[in-house]
Order: sequence, then structure tokens, then C-alpha cells
Amino acid sequence: MAEHFRIPGHILDAIEAHRQACRDPMAAFFYDLPALAAHGSAMKAALPSGVELYYAIKANSEAAIIDTLAPVVDGLELSSGGEIERACACSTPRPWVLSGPGKLDADMREAMTRGVEAFHVESLGEVARLQAIAASLDRVQSVLVRINPSLPAGLNSRLRMAGTATPFGIDEAQLADAVQAVDEAPNLMLVGFHVHAMSHQKCEQRHQRLLAFYLERWPEWRALARHPEQVVQLNVGGGIGVNYLQPSEQFDWPGLCRALERRLSTMHEPPLVRFEIGRFLSAFCGYYAVEVLDTKVSHGEGFLVCRGGTHQFRLPAAQGHDHPVIHLPRDPRRAREGERRAWTVVGQLCTPKDVLSRQQALQGVVVGDLLVLPLAGAYGYNISHADFLCHPRPDQIFVSASRESSVPETRAQRRAEPVG
Ligand SMILES: *Cc1c(COP(=O)(O)O)cnc(C)c1O
Repeated sequence: MAEHFRIPGHILDAIEAHRQACRDPMAAFFYDLPALAAHGSAMKAALPSGVELYYAIKANSEAAIIDTLAPVVDGLELSSGGEIERACACSTPRPWVLSGPGKLDADMREAMTRGVEAFHVESLGEVARLQAIAASLDRVQSVLVRINPSLPAGLNSRLRMAGTATPFGIDEAQLADAVQAVDEAPNLMLVGFHVHAMSHQKCEQRHQRLLAFYLERWPEWRALARHPEQVVQLNVGGGIGVNYLQPSEQFDWPGLCRALERRLSTMHEPPLVRFEIGRFLSAFCGYYAVEVLDTKVSHGEGFLVCRGGTHQFRLPAAQGHDHPVIHLPRDPRRAREGERRAWTVVGQLCTPKDVLSRQQALQGVVVGDLLVLPLAGAYGYNISHADFLCHPRPDQIFVSASRESSVPETRAQRRAEPVG
């Protein structure tokens, strides 16, 4: 199926140009920025009016990715001091919120002084700490309480953040206490609730049911507040999955948006709904291209040993899937005449776990050919253990339609420091 995947021409050009510029065999990430902007705009355009789209930057927080998405989304969702630095360095300032467990006092203070829109509070202890910091800065801070609701059977997905024991949010059983704590904190103002219950949701119908469940609960949650009229926002998190195994069959985002619109139109006082999407926004724009260093057969299994590996692109190993692989032969005519066989695609690490994909039927692969792994724009390089075995870090090439710009890792890292 990867053979039906078309790599855009400007990405192929950028890969070839980079290969020629590399002294050693290459391993690099390529990001299609025009495609990213177009995809983000299409997602935003499909939303019912009044529903907002934030980008959860942990999926990919490279400066060029944030700069590209910021103008097309309504805001950014952040979870650390480092992410605050990246968001504040963005060329298009957007509203941003701070969420996540284990927030540092220093980060909460930094967020307030740098203009955070709202905090998503995760525990009663955090409510107390946030109150103290807001009081010391003499400000009234908007907060949403993150809920870990009990989910109805059949709404689970692979990676659950709620409906089960997790460090995230506040159990529904303790919600009344949490709402009371916020209501009694003179420097905090409750403006809404937040639920990010799952990740890798590939089924639109199931996500529809999940959102319907939140909206059904909404009036009860809201009624716990001392001033329900101030409680207007329901953040439904992210969690829309990417179908890595069948790239042509993806989540029906427009369908979900239409269903949500119908559901909201039946409500007496509908909340302001906000999505904070990571994976489904940035995954499609990324490509990881690696050069074949060696081919071998071991105990009957064919291996393509490539530059790079799971220390640069941990996603397939983290999710336990066989990533689609596209073969770019140096000599297409010779490749067409070559043998077709199943390959296991591995990297340079000295561990049998360094597998990018198994059972990839490819024709006429030889040393020096390139393999391209698409759908690499989210939770790819940034979740990887890039320093393992002291290999150099891969280049990241951000391709715009007209020109490309390469941001070496050192510069990308330096962005995490205050820009002065
Ligand atoms: C990770 C995360 C998201 C984004 O999740 P995706 O699955 O990438 O869409 C949104 N909200 C919270 C609180 C998260 O932790």
C-alpha cells in the first residue's frame, strides 16, 4: 500500500538535493510546510462556527512547524516551560494554554507573566499552588478543571488518559471538591472543563459518541460551579488517530465536525467547544528518508540496514507497527528488473529492537537506494532517543513551495533558550 503513496515533487526534489549535499549516506527528516498549512486550514474550515482548533505542540514543536500552523489555528496548547519558550518565539503570536501533570511553580509563574490564556488544572494540590502564584502576581487567572470521567464501555482506545487510573485530571467523584476549591480561590476563575481521554482514535463514529458523552455530562459538571454562567468552555482535547497502516484511509474529520454541529444545535446552552489536536495536525507533513547501507539475509529473513533508525524515528517501535516504506531507487530501470522480496527495514543500532518495518515487499533494492517513511511529522524525531550510540543527529529540512530551509539541530535547540 505504501507503493500507492505519492510523495510530492517538491519533497522529492528536496530529498535529492540533500542527498547530493551529504558526504555520508543520509538520514533526514523533510517537512512539507505548504501541505501542513493547507491541512490545518482545511481542518479549521470544517469546524462548526464557534468551535475552536488549538495545536498541541508536543506532537512537533519545531519552530517552522509552529510558525506554519500558528496563523491557521486559533491557539496553542503547551505543557512545559520549554514549550512556552517555543510558543513565545513564534512569528505569529497566538493565545496559548498550559496543561499537563507536574507543572513547576516556575513554569506556572512564567506562564502568567507571559500572558497565558488559561490553565488546565490537574489536581487539588495544583489549585492551591496556582492560587498562591496568582495572588503573588495580583491577578485573577482563568482555569479549566481537567476531568478524568468514568467512560461508558466500548469507548476505549489503545492509549487511555481517562476512564481508568491515570495521573491525569481529577476523577469525577472528586470533581465537586475541585470545583469548590477553585471557586473559593480568590485569584482563580473557573471558566470551563477539559477532557482529553484518549489517543489514537481512528474511528469517527466512536469519537462522535465520546464527544456526545461529554456534552451529555456538561450541564451536570457546570451545575457544580458557584457561577455556572462563567463556565462556558468545554475543551475536548485531541486524540484523533492516524492510520499508519492504510495511509489512504484516514479519520473522517469533516464527518465528525458535521455530527458535532448537529449535536450542538440541539443543546439549550451549548458550551464553547475547543479541540487541541496534535498528531492529526502535524503527522501528514513529515517524511523520514534513509539510505540503504547494507542488504543481507539472516536465517531466511531479508534485512535492509539503513542509515539512522529508531533512535531518530522511534514512532514505529513506540507503537509496535510496521511503518509504510516507499522505495526510491537510484536507478529505477534496474530496480524494475530486480528481485521482489519481503524486507525487514532496520537502522544502525546494536539492538534487535531497532526495526522500522517488517514484511515490506520491495523490488530491486540495492545499497545506496533511499527508503522514505511518510506520516513522520508527529511524535517522530521529538520522541526519539537521538543520542543513543552517539550517532549524529539527523538533519531536519523544512520545505516550502519555493525554497527550502534547513534548520540544523543546534539552532533548533538554541530556540529553547530565552530569545533576547
Ligand atoms: C497530547 C495531548 C494532546 C494532543 O493529543 P494528540 O493525540 O496528539 O491529538 C491534547 N491534549 C492533551 C492534554 C495532551 O496531553
